[in-house]
Amino acid sequence: MERITAKFGGSSLADADQIRKAAAIINADTARRYVVVSAPGKRFPEDEKVTDLLYQLYDEAENHKDWGETLLKIRTRFENIRDTLGITTDLDSEFALIEKNLREEPQRDYLASRGEYLNGKLIASYVGADFVDPKDMILFSGNGAFLEEETNRQVWEKLKRSRFAVIPGFYGAMLDGTIRTFSRGGSDITGSIIARGTASEVYENWTDVSGMLFTDPRIVDNPRTIDFVTYKELRELSYMGASVLHEDAVFPVRKAGIPINIRNTNRPQDQGTMIVPALPEDYVPAPITGIAGKKGFTNIYVEKSMMNVEVGFGARLLTIFAEYGLSFEHCPTGIDTIAVVINGEEFSRYEREILRDIRNELKPDVVKVEPGVSVIAVVGSGIVGHYGVAARVFKSIAEAGVNVLMIDSGAGEMCIIISVLDEDYERAVEAIYHEFNE
Ligand code: ASP
Repeated sequence: MERITAKFGGSSLADADQIRKAAAIINADTARRYVVVSAPGKRFPEDEKVTDLLYQLYDEAENHKDWGETLLKIRTRFENIRDTLGITTDLDSEFALIEKNLREEPQRDYLASRGEYLNGKLIASYVGADFVDPKDMILFSGNGAFLEEETNRQVWEKLKRSRFAVIPGFYGAMLDGTIRTFSRGGSDITGSIIARGTASEVYENWTDVSGMLFTDPRIVDNPRTIDFVTYKELRELSYMGASVLHEDAVFPVRKAGIPINIRNTNRPQDQGTMIVPALPEDYVPAPITGIAGKKGFTNIYVEKSMMNVEVGFGARLLTIFAEYGLSFEHCPTGIDTIAVVINGEEFSRYEREILRDIRNELKPDVVKVEPGVSVIAVVGSGIVGHYGVAARVFKSIAEAGVNVLMIDSGAGEMCIIISVLDEDYERAVEAIYHEFNE
């Protein structure tokens, strides 16, 4: 029987109306057997997320402040959902347990997890599914490390007998039963773990956008959505923040070769973005898949005559950065030159020490620090199969009047990395976007 894991985010489950939409999606395909849910998110822009309220509740209790009002707000949201959906789930006993925790010894992760837990209870009852608590299958060691393989076994153990289950996202438990959450946005990770553990055909991630966008919508008006993207391309795009998914959510399904489908709860007719291990054979990729980028880098440029014969020069240079705990973004090289592109804020903390070490240890002819650099990644498996993609990228940037500081083709051929000045960043991204999308 076909199996789908469908995860719904907080905006998809923010109130009873949204939950009805999610339920219609769940009911539209009996393969959607494993449903992972977030806590109710914002209903309107100024609204509060239930998870934020729960963290506030913990802080108030921990600091011996009055938490009554915050608890009431949370309770009212769940009671509203329950009553509007017309179900009769007992919330009194659930809130009695929460109050007991607050009075006796407030536990941060336990409290934060109650948004997913309670929403899970309500949604399971509404759609007529089993409620399966992740505390018995998503496992962490005593020091909080996620136990990947043990979890994978337990997920199947606990779910194999269920035809239809709702599982709260965001948390699991340590081996002694203490609740432990993932980092914020972590229900995405739960969805991925459940998809892997149940060997689902696809991991659907339902959110409030119709997929990943080709580029940042704050720079380009209404960029088109990406229909197919490989896991590898996604990495290239997401390392600079162009992601709709929690970063750690990719690994479990990627390991199992399960595609992720990003979908829009408010527009289920849209096919969204498929994130796949490999592109379908009959699919002809566009020259580029997407453009990501980030401002605020610093370029440290080092020049030394005959650098090319000095074995280990590059390694020694990079070791200096590593010694200060800094990881570099790019490192283009020439015959007698090497540049290290690094997060500007992090670099500025150790600038004096790093420059001193470079001068002392490497005796370079020139060291220059250039702050205010943006990095743009033009990503696409299609780059390899199309002539002239690079030429078009650079022509479009030149026509926009932007000067390119540095070019790096990445180690694979899937990515062209370009540095420009921060003030030129938006113009460059826009120019590349229009070159490939008009
Ligand atoms: N509710 C949690 C958060 O707001 C987890 C999630 O929604 O993914 O971070």
